[in-house]
Amino acid sequence: MTSTQTLHDSLLDSIRTGLYIGGRWREASNQNTFPVHNPATGEVLTSVADATVNDGADALSAAAEAQKSWARTSPRDRGELLRAAFAAVTARADDFALLMTLEMGKPLAEARGEVSYGAEFLRWFSEEAVRIAGRYAPAPDGKTRLLVHKRPVGPCLFITPWNFPLAMATRKIAPAIAAGCTMVVKPATLTPLTTLLFAQILEEVGLPAGVLNVIPTSKAGSVTGPLIADPRLRKLSFTGSTEVGRQLLKASADQVLRTSMELGGNAPFLVFEDADVDAAVDGALLAKLRNMGEACTAANRFIVHHAVAEEFARKLSQKMAALTVAPGTDPDSQIGPLIDEESRTKVHELVLDAVHTGASIETGGNVPAGSGYFYPPTVLTGVGPTARILDEEVFGPVAPIVTFTEEQEAVELANSTEYGLVAYVYTRDTARTLRMSEEIESGMLGINVGVVSNPAAPFGGVKQSGLGREGGIEGIEEYLETRYVGIADPYA
Ligand code: NAP
Repeated sequence: MTSTQTLHDSLLDSIRTGLYIGGRWREASNQNTFPVHNPATGEVLTSVADATVNDGADALSAAAEAQKSWARTSPRDRGELLRAAFAAVTARADDFALLMTLEMGKPLAEARGEVSYGAEFLRWFSEEAVRIAGRYAPAPDGKTRLLVHKRPVGPCLFITPWNFPLAMATRKIAPAIAAGCTMVVKPATLTPLTTLLFAQILEEVGLPAGVLNVIPTSKAGSVTGPLIADPRLRKLSFTGSTEVGRQLLKASADQVLRTSMELGGNAPFLVFEDADVDAAVDGALLAKLRNMGEACTAANRFIVHHAVAEEFARKLSQKMAALTVAPGTDPDSQIGPLIDEESRTKVHELVLDAVHTGASIETGGNVPAGSGYFYPPTVLTGVGPTARILDEEVFGPVAPIVTFTEEQEAVELANSTEYGLVAYVYTRDTARTLRMSEEIESGMLGINVGVVSNPAAPFGGVKQSGLGREGGIEGIEEYLETRYVGIADPYA
């Protein structure tokens, strides 16, 4: 056994793989488990407890029971706990990074980046916990006083995706803790281990029993359905596909549940004729290839002015072709495997469909032989308007390029999607920058940058990319409700 293998095994052995309910680690009530695979090899890493409907109900009971006392804790205590969690996650950054690489596939360097990003939500919301404010004012007619204050929403259900196993969890858990909410978390079946390690950390830093409950399950719909229908649940926050988000919104209607929905994207990446093309190529590499393209924020469509299109496509293809595709644990890896065979098949189908519409493959475009779900960085030019790749989330390292002539044409192409999460624009024209920020229909816009995610900024989409915001000063509001008290004129 190599020393690397020993390191992997000892980390995996240290992860608690049970359900975490009411401050206790336990098996599923029917003792079932499900396997977690390494997408770089297809091998089973370990197995985790597979929560049943009854286990889900136990988790919500634990959250409901803890809610009242947790809401009464002081904001400073909740902030200090988050700050301790930030320090503990940071101290174990290497373990978190390796675990994410093993269960999700991203290169270690990117996994380390996610640990910093994910941990930063803990620090940010440790600071926001003490800034939950209200107001006191005389009514305009002077006859009453208006007291407005904020209360925690109450027990929450969090359903998270596999692509950013730590950050998608901390982006919800940290503001909920800061606001004084308790919660049940259902991590993605493909990547539950990172959330389980994070729950261990929160337990170690002293989070009271019942505040956080984690229920990995292979039966997402049947376990979370009864929780969404339960009147004790007050909030659902979901990150995942628009398709599942729509179903959850419908299910939430019966209890008029507060919801936050972080859904899919189809980000346009616009390069204008006045752009710094080299900077645009570097930005494109980030916007396209972070997480192998498996990001809701991934640039999905490159919309490039015809005057710079040839140069942009050539330089992007050269840089993409030079990247090292290898298991994420390989120190040289720049592109890891996709999450599973189904995802890789879908990505390749989108490429073949684009070729069918007349597209040319400038680099990549083939399924490599061997184990693991690898797909090479791929650039497509001359993509026809009917190509599926322009409408669907690619979730892979494929960059389709289309061209435009007039600014309005670029805006129309950018907006011709049901999604509206993020857009990227490369231009040196300030007036155009402002026009784009008003005309492009997206919750977030990057100007001459390839990454916009930042814990201090409100992350979220418009149109069918979602509802609500995570991060920034807006993020904690998702976990607070406004109460108003009318008070008789104290001088009457
Ligand atoms: P997904 O299939 O929608 O799954 C997301 C989560 O929902 C998983 O935990 C999944 O459980 C669970 N789920 C699936 N069906 C469910 C149901 N009927 N009831 C309750 N829960 C259900 O999405 P994914 O493939 O994991 O993630 C990729 C998607 O997430 C992409 O569309 C991406 O754009 C989006 N995303 C959005 C953001 C954002 O902030 N806007 C961030 C990251 C990702 P299982 O694991 O058991 O299937």
